[in-house]
Amino acid sequence: MVKKYIYTPGPTNVRENVRKARSEEVTNPDIDEEFYEFYKDTCEKVGELLGTKNDTFILSGEGILGLEAACASLTEPGDRVLVIDNGVFGEGFKDFVKIYGGQPIMYSSNRREQIDVEDLRRFLEKDHDFKYATVVHCDTPSGMLNNISLICPLLKEFGIITVVDSVAAMIGEPLKVDDWKVDIALGGSQKAFSAETGLTIVTISQDAYEVMKSRAVPIIGFYCNLTIWENYYKNKWFPYTMSASDIKGFRRAVDNIMEEGLDNVHKRHREIAYAVRRSIQEYGFTLYAHNGYSSTVTVIEPPKGLSADKILDHIRDKYNVILAGSFDYLSGKVIRIGHMGENANIDRIVFVLHILDMAMRDLGYRTNIKLAEEFKRVFSS
Ligand SMILES: *Cc1c(COP(=O)(O)O)cnc(C)c1O
Repeated sequence: MVKKYIYTPGPTNVRENVRKARSEEVTNPDIDEEFYEFYKDTCEKVGELLGTKNDTFILSGEGILGLEAACASLTEPGDRVLVIDNGVFGEGFKDFVKIYGGQPIMYSSNRREQIDVEDLRRFLEKDHDFKYATVVHCDTPSGMLNNISLICPLLKEFGIITVVDSVAAMIGEPLKVDDWKVDIALGGSQKAFSAETGLTIVTISQDAYEVMKSRAVPIIGFYCNLTIWENYYKNKWFPYTMSASDIKGFRRAVDNIMEEGLDNVHKRHREIAYAVRRSIQEYGFTLYAHNGYSSTVTVIEPPKGLSADKILDHIRDKYNVILAGSFDYLSGKVIRIGHMGENANIDRIVFVLHILDMAMRDLGYRTNIKLAEEFKRVFSS
């Protein structure tokens, strides 16, 4: 197989030391007490990165598990749940709410713009009888970053606990779980953590625990029940056998982040994202969003007359580079450049922009601007 270069907004590039850590010998995680120490220590490190003293767990299952588990654990039949929607994942929460018998109430807004916090406040002043609210930090299909630092405290003012899907933002963007009053924060290993796909990260506040424990109707299901984790360490009992190799790799990725320093990681993402946005517009693409640009992914519309899918196919077939299209209402309309985790590095971005430039020229696009050069110019200025 010819080597492929991936620049998707998750899964992203995985560093060699993470791949190697996954190949190390492992123990029986159910029985070997050392593994409980290793697991707990890894969870605490993640909690530190997320600015929280809340319980932090690593679940075996891709990020969607976290979304479903949060809704399964909080929703009782008939509950009104506020679904804050300005993108595909935002809207998608309504399906999980419905599966567990809840009644999703949509707060939908312009998908090219961040959630307007003042407008949300006006909405809540009229209606705030919700069991909990869901909101997406970075809605990946459109690259839309929402202002969690304002949205969650606002909902708390109205006594509403929050579930935040930060799968595509966590680590690439600041997330201060305790300061921002996030009750359940969700992440995934394959996004800005830059580990392999397969793990969900979840933090649970006391308020969220209280809601889960004061239910009249028991939580439906076992794998998605978040209360089964609470005393795993004290009891030396995992609800199911942990994927020890996945966690070993993930732990290495966490250590990589800590060694670099979280502030440096954020700065790297921010600077790369800024230079990508500036240079790509100069080159002739249009940014999909009007504001709320995530530092983990840039979503662009091609210049007039060129099809996003044609560009993506050509880049893949001729150069073995995999960029992402999008889905749902954005299908065929945009190109997404993932610059999260290991991909938020100048070498890797210069490479992909150079390839994109060559592909555009192959397809007949004419410009005097050299995209990779333009990126380097903005990046160093
Ligand atoms: C990647 C991602 C998930 C996990 O979903 P998959 O479609 O399985 O990759 C959940 N939420 C967001 C915002 C994501 O970007």
